[in-house]
Amino acid sequence: TDPLTPQAQTIEEKTANHPCYSCGASQKNARMHLPIAPKCNIQCNYCVRKFDCPNESRPGVTTDILSPEAAFEKYKLVKEKVPNLTVVGIAGPGDALANFEQTRKALTLIHEHDPNVTFCVSTNGLMLPYHAKELAKLGVSHVTVTVNAVDPAIGAKIYKHVDFMGNRYHGEAAASILLANQLSGIKLLIDEGVIVKINTVTLMGINDTHIEEVVKTVKDMGCFISNVMPLIPVKGSAFEGLKIATNREINAIRDKCGVHLKQMYHCKQCRADAIGKLDSDISLDFRENEAR
Ligand code: SF4
Ligand code: SF4
Repeated sequence: TDPLTPQAQTIEEKTANHPCYSCGASQKNARMHLPIAPKCNIQCNYCVRKFDCPNESRPGVTTDILSPEAAFEKYKLVKEKVPNLTVVGIAGPGDALANFEQTRKALTLIHEHDPNVTFCVSTNGLMLPYHAKELAKLGVSHVTVTVNAVDPAIGAKIYKHVDFMGNRYHGEAAASILLANQLSGIKLLIDEGVIVKINTVTLMGINDTHIEEVVKTVKDMGCFISNVMPLIPVKGSAFEGLKIATNREINAIRDKCGVHLKQMYHCKQCRADAIGKLDSDISLDFRENEAR
């Protein structure tokens, strides 16, 4: 295949250009997050919903929401000014799949304009079984799912509630529904050839000794990489007072997990409207309502 033909890009080529999946690409390629997804369908105990989703984005900052059309306009503007832009991601500020109409519309507009763009979507996975196939059809080649536990008894301590099919679930029932959907959604993605990254938030005393089990489970399913993240405490969240893992503790967990699955060491927990190379965010240049 001719690598210059946009449609001919393989997933491997797209991954090589993705700053979050390839360390080399993180030095030269830029990504852009589209902040089009305001709602969420679960409540993690480490999250306060007025901030960006800490599953993928740094908490403590709020991002203005764009309509899909406005996001498309912003994409064109950024693409013009940032020629090394290779990846467009949807990472909140809520959950990409709890706002699927917006996600679908934005991806469709950009894909029609530029079929060569690498799309990446982050989600808590609750609605993944319902949208995995369509995501693949829309050109999404990379999906990040946050899986904090593969045991509902542990999940019950992490999730306050899960809103699913018009009902609100709590405790182990909530965690079981979330887990079942995450696992069947991940399976569907992998069957479609999508590259799956798993984020796990380290919650000391809750899932820190369980993370290796999470990683083994998702490795067996065919996930590509795991990203063990520290908890960044959010004021007002249920886990506000939880002990924070030190760098040493995080690295020890990563080392254990790395025996099973490739680890990501360079995630910056970027804002939901991040733009630029991972080390040099230039989103402020494109933000309308904030002081420069
Ligand atoms: Fe917050 Fe993200 Fe969890 Fe939703 S999925 S509750 S936005 S951390
Ligand atoms: Fe990449 Fe992490 Fe930033 Fe997402 S939050 S764009 S995975 S560096």
